[in-house]
Amino acid sequence: MDATSITDTFHRPLRDLRISVTDRCNFRCVYCMPREIFGRDYVFMPREQLLTFEEITRLASIAVAHGVLKIRLTGGEPLLRKDIEELVRMLARLRTPDGRAPDLAMTTNGSVLAQKALVLKDAGLNRVTVSLDSVREETFQAMNDAGYPVAKVLHALDVAQAAGLGPVKINMVVKRGQNDHDIIDTARHFKGSGFILRFIEYMDVGASNGWKMDEVVPSAEVLARISAVFPLDPVAPNYPGETSERWRYRDGSGEIGVISSVTQAFCRGCTRARLSADGKLFTCLFATAGTDLRALLRGGASDADLSAALSALWGGRADRYSVLRSANTPVAPDTAARRIEMSYIGG
Ligand code: SF4
Repeated sequence: MDATSITDTFHRPLRDLRISVTDRCNFRCVYCMPREIFGRDYVFMPREQLLTFEEITRLASIAVAHGVLKIRLTGGEPLLRKDIEELVRMLARLRTPDGRAPDLAMTTNGSVLAQKALVLKDAGLNRVTVSLDSVREETFQAMNDAGYPVAKVLHALDVAQAAGLGPVKINMVVKRGQNDHDIIDTARHFKGSGFILRFIEYMDVGASNGWKMDEVVPSAEVLARISAVFPLDPVAPNYPGETSERWRYRDGSGEIGVISSVTQAFCRGCTRARLSADGKLFTCLFATAGTDLRALLRGGASDADLSAALSALWGGRADRYSVLRSANTPVAPDTAARRIEMSYIGG
């Protein structure tokens, strides 16, 4: 197999692979899995359609051979996938062509994290990011729409940090009129805690959340609100293409971040591919179609075949949805209606 780093039509290298391991979740976050669509009768993917851990690891090893340095496990809720720590153990054995272990991270809603943190760390997981849309019970419950108490997630954060899965990052999706009134309370709660709180602009991912631009709170406004109470200074990115813009509290009590896909598109440095739980590879979060690698896998494809498929796919990539959105490039209604769901591709 020809193990070379691959770049797309904008010379962006493939560096990050996000792997969704399930389309199921125990929350019904209003911006991702609104209950009116993902209700009691919603049909999730049957187990036989999901990639096995061996299939996921094989695809990941080919991606790592082509330059992937970061692997992130997502869902749905990844910790709902049975024995997920076994997959972590398998992925943790992968090595880049120059012998490095790819960075292994997970994004979770934290509901099962307290029970799993130590086995995940032991299996080789490096870091976790936890979604938490407010520290106030009432707002948190309204956002997750599953009656799950915020105290349990806050406890899981402490367990994960103590287990060495940090610095634990926290993602707060800010939706105007839903939880933006809790920006300061949530910042205050984590200030000086060692956790890194990131504020994410509400995005038009998928076709289910009824996204409207006037429900987006631009990151500039989030920063202005916080700075008015807790002065902030900008911090240089950890690496090129980092999606989170870093800011530190001037009094030295820690760091926050903003992720501004809507108002400050970062497609120029986007090095992310996404693998769905049923084995489709997507080259953009806002894609409408993916490439079925499961069919190749189960059709007897060799590693060289899979490598060639990945190289052709990434080599031909020209995605820059957020840039086009910012330029108000019209999107055909049927295209918007076919965009993949966040709960399917995992953000
Ligand atoms: S819109 Fe697509 S190309 Fe742009 S940053 Fe997001 S995933 Fe990458």
